[in-house]
Amino acid sequence: MSVSNAEKKAPSRPLPKLNELDTGEFWQATANKEFRYQQCANCGTIMWYPRAHCTGCVDGDLRWKVSAGKGTIYSFSVVRLSYHPFFRTKVPYAVAYVDLDEGPRFLTNVTGIDDPLTDVHVGQCVELAWEEHDELCIPLVRPA
Ligand SMILES: [Zn+2]
Repeated sequence: MSVSNAEKKAPSRPLPKLNELDTGEFWQATANKEFRYQQCANCGTIMWYPRAHCTGCVDGDLRWKVSAGKGTIYSFSVVRLSYHPFFRTKVPYAVAYVDLDEGPRFLTNVTGIDDPLTDVHVGQCVELAWEEHDELCIPLVRPA
């Protein structure tokens, strides 16, 4: 039995699991559009991605903080070819390292632009733009 084009489900973004030991709490908070990061209570190091021990002193007393959602683009690249069923519908798109004002650096997509080849640059001010899903939201950014 064949499936008509109208019955085919549109490819969707692969989503993280909510029950992973180190990252579960982060993803659960995204349901409320909170971008959480960790800071070491012992030495003050700010960390991204979430983990169990400090990258500065190996202490395990990490405290969750919430970003205000503003940052700047540290670096970026434009993806023009993808073999993934979802991402190939998005090309060309910008992938950027963003420095949030509080310190965390994370990898994301730049949205809210017409042309990723001309509308994204290093040092650009951006803000979080949440992509909503059933149980979580994906933190993207857009020009601020
Ligand atoms: Zn530390």
